[in-house]
Amino acid sequence: MPSKPKESPAKTVRYTVLKVPVYPTPEQAELMEKTFGCCRYLWNQMLSDVQEFYAATDVHYIPTPARYKKGAPFLKEVDSQALCAVHQSLRKAFLDFFRNPRVFQYPRPKTKKARKDSFTVYSRPYHTGPSLRLTGAGLQMPKLGLLKVKLYRKPLHWWSLRSVTITKTKTGKYFCSMAFGYETEIPEPVVPTPQRTVGLNYSMAHFYVDSSGGSPEIPPQMAAAREKLARMQSKLSRMQRGSGNYEKQLQKVRLQYEHIANQRRDFAHQQSRRIANAWDAVCVRGADLNVMAQRLEGGNVLDSGFGMFREFLRYKLEEQGKQYIDVDPYLPAARTCHACGCVNEKLPARRRTWVCPHCGEQLNRDENTARNIRDFGLAAFDQQAGVA
Ligand SMILES: [Zn+2]
Repeated sequence: MPSKPKESPAKTVRYTVLKVPVYPTPEQAELMEKTFGCCRYLWNQMLSDVQEFYAATDVHYIPTPARYKKGAPFLKEVDSQALCAVHQSLRKAFLDFFRNPRVFQYPRPKTKKARKDSFTVYSRPYHTGPSLRLTGAGLQMPKLGLLKVKLYRKPLHWWSLRSVTITKTKTGKYFCSMAFGYETEIPEPVVPTPQRTVGLNYSMAHFYVDSSGGSPEIPPQMAAAREKLARMQSKLSRMQRGSGNYEKQLQKVRLQYEHIANQRRDFAHQQSRRIANAWDAVCVRGADLNVMAQRLEGGNVLDSGFGMFREFLRYKLEEQGKQYIDVDPYLPAARTCHACGCVNEKLPARRRTWVCPHCGEQLNRDENTARNIRDFGLAAFDQQAGVA
């Protein structure tokens, strides 16, 4: 057989985000506030116009930001790029909703009470150079000028700055998330084998249980931070609302919330890195966490960071050509025996051990579920590969 001429490997663009603190001057902070407000205003206007237009004509259409500037001249005071980004993100929110309404909510109006304020600006290639630049002096942005940032790590010299998102937390801290793009070779896809594939079952108590019965060690600081938050909240509840002490305590509670959110993100990064390096393929149930949270009535499903962990895991596997396999959440992974395949419809919800009524197999219930998740995932993967 004649050998094929050697092709250069296919390339793709990957993104890395650096999130760092920003220290705006009072003038810059004021303009940021204005921009947050304009973006919120524009989002809400566009959303209500989409609804009105749809009701009148049956056509889904999102007007462009330019249309609003006449009626709302204050929009001209902020970077028009930030307004374009609102249009794009509303478009994406609708697309997500239309494609998968079970997971994504219908876009909702933004309120001032939101958890944090933010706006995004994309870089534009002007003939004088890109509109967003990171230099030794700081981050150069249109309208805002030179922003003082604290870089924990330097971007590599072949990365190019694509967008910047400025956020302000409820505790009054400013951050910028800089998205850098760079070209990289597409890795050879790794074909999963049962030996090199793991299944993960979400667990409230252990975060997850894997198909060999293992679960991550949860750092004791995480539980301690939650207990501290609970104490702070109960102290807050005994205080006079609106008093000076109340406000002080409220700020402490918010800072503790932020601390917990950071811990959770670090944990999700560590766990996903460990798994993505150790295995060739990972099967996870594509559970609809919104539905699960409702079912548990205010339980801490969304709180646990498992959704974030899945996203981290997905991209960390894909970077290496490995497989992230979504398993249909409606398959009876919890009620099937991993050994003989029989389904026990009458399994009590609280029973922690799987005892098979057919073959007598006994196993930790979460481990049995994780093994089924792995097997269902591999079967679906093989079927798809066979069809393609
Ligand atoms: Zn069995």
